[in-house]
Amino acid sequence: MISYFPAIYPDELVYSWFCRYYVHSGFFSSKSAMQELYFKRSDNPSKEFIGNLNPGAVEQIAKMYPLDKLVLEHTMYPQYARFISLEQKKTALYRLGHDNCDAHHLFCVLPRSEGEHYLRFCPLCVNEDRETCGETYWHRKHQIRNMGICTKHRCRLVESSVPAKSEQGFVFCPAEHYTGCDKVVFEEDPQMIQFANYLESVFDAPMDFENDTPISSVLYHGMCQTKYLKPSGRSRYTKMLADDLNVFYREMGLYNIASIYQIQKVLLGSRSDFSVVCQIAFFLGMETEKLTSPSLTPEQVQQEQDSHYMKDTAPVDWVQLDADTAPILEKVVQGVYDGTDNENGRPERVSERLVYREMNLLGHQLENMPRCKAIFERYTEPYPESWARKIIWAYQRLRAQGKPFYWSDIRKLSGVKKKNFHSIIPYLQEHTDAETANRIVALIE
Ligand SMILES: [Zn+2]
Repeated sequence: MISYFPAIYPDELVYSWFCRYYVHSGFFSSKSAMQELYFKRSDNPSKEFIGNLNPGAVEQIAKMYPLDKLVLEHTMYPQYARFISLEQKKTALYRLGHDNCDAHHLFCVLPRSEGEHYLRFCPLCVNEDRETCGETYWHRKHQIRNMGICTKHRCRLVESSVPAKSEQGFVFCPAEHYTGCDKVVFEEDPQMIQFANYLESVFDAPMDFENDTPISSVLYHGMCQTKYLKPSGRSRYTKMLADDLNVFYREMGLYNIASIYQIQKVLLGSRSDFSVVCQIAFFLGMETEKLTSPSLTPEQVQQEQDSHYMKDTAPVDWVQLDADTAPILEKVVQGVYDGTDNENGRPERVSERLVYREMNLLGHQLENMPRCKAIFERYTEPYPESWARKIIWAYQRLRAQGKPFYWSDIRKLSGVKKKNFHSIIPYLQEHTDAETANRIVALIE
């Protein structure tokens, strides 16, 4: 039974809170603490959200903090759900708190790029936390995508060795043990400081649960009076916007600059990534309130929606598009294939549908893009091969837990149906060593 939960600190990640629970309760290992909290043996802690808690843990926690409050104030929900539609926002709030839904089913979670792979901390906040609380903890705001500095101390954030992705490792990593004493580097660039403050105030603004203005409309009206929208309002100059934005943020030394495709998707309303929206809006000089509590009239929203159907003014330069898209596609596809970009870490099969969706392409357009097509073909595989890779992954993951497990555990974790077991056998050796393959076969039979 859960004995003691410490109080949660302001802006602390739920994950960090659980880490401290583990430390304070005197468990011998992370595993025993996890058994107290989580539902299944295969559940690992979620870094950005709450995770699959067992009913006992939920009951205990709900007594201290309502789950909605935890999601809103102690997870990365305000980042990922900020600009999705009202209905999705409500669903996500409920499902993250009450039924452990995989965040990838609720909103888009962009692949991580350099500088975003590990949990970050501010060395000065660490000192301050230790003075005021007697220990430090993982702060939410330091984990916002593209957040380079601590807005409170204006110093650069430092990457720890703790992966920011949830699926990696079945251990609790309390901030107290993973935040070394680092040299403090103060940020000198006023624009970087301004941008960090901007991200923070968008993140911190109360979530709007009434207004359902699409963010594409908000940005469209933010582009009015700029050179990126024709005075008639009938054409966007997306390429010019993307190029200028790229130069602007590159000079600032931003980790992850929005690509033309990401910008286009956001402007056309098919995506609403926090990082991309904030980059566009900050670049255009829009006030944060315009984003977090927009006040457009229904006519203004309609005007933007109508603009989607206008013809593109410039013909598509396929050679350029292919060259620009290839590196992005490679990254996306690889992350899906090996599972590193999937929240549960499970490898997935790369389908043509996925490529078209990710790249926002229309039917057969891949035919005009030989480099992209070659990348896709390199990752193409028959279903049984993808099942084999999932099974190997599940097997290795269960083994890493160091406890006995059965074929049914592999089946559940890999999601591969029993009737498909036999078709995978020929593919096992292509993706793992002979010994592992034999062990897996022995488990199946
Ligand atoms: Zn700080």
